Amino acid sequence: MTTGAADLFERAAGVMPGGVSSPVRAYRAVGGTPPFIASGSGARVWDTSGRDYIDLVCSWGPLIAGHAHPRVVEAIVAQARLGTSYGAPSPREVELAEVIIEALPSVEMLRFVSSGTEAAMSAVRLARAATGREKILKFAGCYHGHADGLLAKAGSGVATFGLPDSAGVTEGTTRDTLTAQYSDLAAVEAIATQVPLAAIIVEPYAGNMGCVPPAPGFLAGLRRICDTTGALLIFDEVITGFRLARGGAQALVGLRPDITCLGKIIGGGLPVGAYGASRSLMSQVAPLGPMYQAGTLSGNPLAMAAGLATLSLLDVSAYEALDRTGARLAQGLEDAIWTHGIEACVQRAGSLLTLFFCAGPIRDELGASRADRSAFAAFHRAMLSRGVMLPPSQLECWFVSLAHDDDTIDQVIRSSWDSLKEMAR
Ligand SMILES: *Cc1c(COP(=O)(O)O)cnc(C)c1O
Repeated sequence: MTTGAADLFERAAGVMPGGVSSPVRAYRAVGGTPPFIASGSGARVWDTSGRDYIDLVCSWGPLIAGHAHPRVVEAIVAQARLGTSYGAPSPREVELAEVIIEALPSVEMLRFVSSGTEAAMSAVRLARAATGREKILKFAGCYHGHADGLLAKAGSGVATFGLPDSAGVTEGTTRDTLTAQYSDLAAVEAIATQVPLAAIIVEPYAGNMGCVPPAPGFLAGLRRICDTTGALLIFDEVITGFRLARGGAQALVGLRPDITCLGKIIGGGLPVGAYGASRSLMSQVAPLGPMYQAGTLSGNPLAMAAGLATLSLLDVSAYEALDRTGARLAQGLEDAIWTHGIEACVQRAGSLLTLFFCAGPIRDELGASRADRSAFAAFHRAMLSRGVMLPPSQLECWFVSLAHDDDTIDQVIRSSWDSLKEMAR
């Protein structure tokens, strides 16, 4: 049996839709077949043929400490020797919950789940349970996992009732999901004053239409609208939690959402999610209250151990380092696009960034949709051939980790010079 990527991809495609366990990994947006990853260490991954790449996917966010950080690996191994799942309370859950609550003043209690999807789905259920209202508002271009009611977005700049984004999602489900463009406070105000909303759910810094920071005042405006209309404000910090700051985006902007969704980093590379809120809101959740939500592997001890080890690495100096590294990469990319006369812009928030192939700034999904996807696809292929693995879609963030040192970033910048030069010819 050979282990080449082409052969593996053929086998994979025979047994899994698109050959993958999550669609974007199939490289449909950039062409070619994805490398199959055999191992990772620090800022690098190795494919099954032994080629190495600088990794700017970092598992789409969880690996803020890089691949196979020794402290994280040790924590997982030590826990594995004690067992991998009990279906009963265990000490690491309490420890991780306490660490998270310490970092996020808006969260007094939380419930662990196994994915960001579950966190967002459960947060919406909690908002409905607490308010007795049915409709929610989300923003086009924001992703909150693949629960039915959250797979909807606006088809235009006009706020409208959501249409399903996916086959198999009923119109009845998405009828309760209204949508507006990101940072369009006037649209939110118009909707929230007419329709009793259970919740407004938002990525406080959008990371799923590329990196799109909120317009100044947008998040504070949402807080105000929620306060005046009785809707609950949900910050989906599955990407931004422990990424933009230890206290997440909410610490950065100095706001308290009613409910926070977490995932990715808090599991240190193992499957995890969590939703948290005030003590009184979380008292709605079973067994304290009437809102049912459960999970066989929730609070999984391996994930808790990996999360605790990861969060223990994230002190003030870690965030300074992440920001410095992100800035170095953004500056290098900006120099390269300017020098080669490419129409593109870089948007960054700390260690999240996106190179959009269109003029900036990009403020919402309509803006992001103007980026040249075929230019990005060519760039992605050119970078991959130079040993740099970028997320295989224009509308994703690149993730910088603590393992990306200056030399590594400079290699990425050199590769982008060469790639853009090739494209400019
Ligand atoms: C990744 C992500 C999710 C979904 O998390 P999964 O663990 O993939 O289910 C939800 N919200 C945001 C903002 C995300 O980036």
